[in-house]
Amino acid sequence: MNAPFDERVTQYYAALARSRDPACDPIAAQFVPQTGETLLDAAETDDPLQDRGYAPVDRLVHRYPDRALILATDRCAVYCRHCFRRHFTERGSGAITEEQLNAIVAYLARQPQVTELLLSGGDPLMLEPDRLESVLERLYSVNPAYIVRVCTRVPVVMPSRIGERLAAALGLRGGLWLVTQVNHPHELTPEFAVALRRLQRHGVPVLNQSVLLRGVNDSLETLVALFRGLLQLRVKPYYLFQADLAAGTRHLRVSIEEGLELMRKLRTRVSGPALPVYALDQPGAGGKLNLEIAFQGVEGESYLLRDGEGREYRYPRELPSAAYLASIS
Ligand SMILES: *Cc1c(COP(=O)(O)O)cnc(C)c1O
Ligand code: SF4
Repeated sequence: MNAPFDERVTQYYAALARSRDPACDPIAAQFVPQTGETLLDAAETDDPLQDRGYAPVDRLVHRYPDRALILATDRCAVYCRHCFRRHFTERGSGAITEEQLNAIVAYLARQPQVTELLLSGGDPLMLEPDRLESVLERLYSVNPAYIVRVCTRVPVVMPSRIGERLAAALGLRGGLWLVTQVNHPHELTPEFAVALRRLQRHGVPVLNQSVLLRGVNDSLETLVALFRGLLQLRVKPYYLFQADLAAGTRHLRVSIEEGLELMRKLRTRVSGPALPVYALDQPGAGGKLNLEIAFQGVEGESYLLRDGEGREYRYPRELPSAAYLASIS
């Protein structure tokens, strides 16, 4: 059995669902728990990205030489059923403390090769705006030229939280980017557009990372509408993630074969800037794997993947869906 992962949703996001049945609605599938979550697949863990093995100090994940990721708070506005960081998300550690921030600042001061910081969690925009500003200022005190990526679902699940003051604070420094996670075109609402325009008016560029999810966006037409819709709102689709092997998420994963087929078709349907990189966060690899390059084929019950340095990895082979099999027959 897995540690339970509570249901938490905003009124706004719940209202985007046209049915509360996760089998029938792409929004419900992202926030309503399903029975599949109690099942633990052999390949799954609560920490599929091995964050805990790359944490030189509390709440800092340092996997790539030039980039470090900071876990700003464990809270999120909505708990996504596919969350890959469920060993941390809503596990009670709360917002980053002053002592933790001091230790992170001291560590970063000794790591001049770090040029880019990712603020993640949980959701960093769940911090009180004052606190977020002071965390950012402390980090910039180490290096005012840091490039900072704030990774957040708040614009998608609680757009009203993106107020004038917050947008202005995020726009204060040149190198700050917002990275959001839109998974379905139903999430591209007028409220989301207002939040984006506010951020963009303050000079904050926005990228999107989607997660490829069964029953949410595992169809060509959905992805075409999603990526075009994002581009229309001046958001660059950056990554389409293969779902990580998070505990109890097998029912939400799409096979890599299916993902590659979707990418192949997408290429003929959307423009260059609308096309994200289909990526897998593979612990041990030098960076996220571009699956269109890394994919080597099927080996028994696994897919064989290879990184740029020739190291090999295995990812479990999921059974393709009936819809997929019908589409290629
Ligand atoms: C994803 C990730 C990054 C950023 O990777 P990019 O490919 O640059 O987007 C940095 N650090 C950690 C720990 C990550 O998981
Ligand atoms: S917003 Fe991110 S960290 Fe929070 S539950 Fe969703 S995927 Fe997990």
